[in-house]
Amino acid sequence: MSDHARNSGPMLASQRCGAKTRSGGACCSPAMRGRKRCRMHGGAQGSGAPKANRNARTHGLFTRDAIAERRQIQALLGEARKLLEEMK
Ligand SMILES: [Zn+2]
Repeated sequence: MSDHARNSGPMLASQRCGAKTRSGGACCSPAMRGRKRCRMHGGAQGSGAPKANRNARTHGLFTRDAIAERRQIQALLGEARKLLEEMK
């Protein structure tokens, strides 16, 4: 037996893939950096939809900008109503 000290602790402590396998358990392969899945389960570089996926956009009613705009309008209306109440 060699006296080479094994240091696989940090490797084994890495984030593991949680994809469900056909036998029912989790995949447990090392997940890709910054992702929750391994290279075989959708964690590979370039896989997955791009951020702010325009291909999946239907009408844009729930885009961040549209929601922020509606919220701003509602706040403005609230202020106007408050002002009207104070003028009575
Ligand atoms: Zn996996």
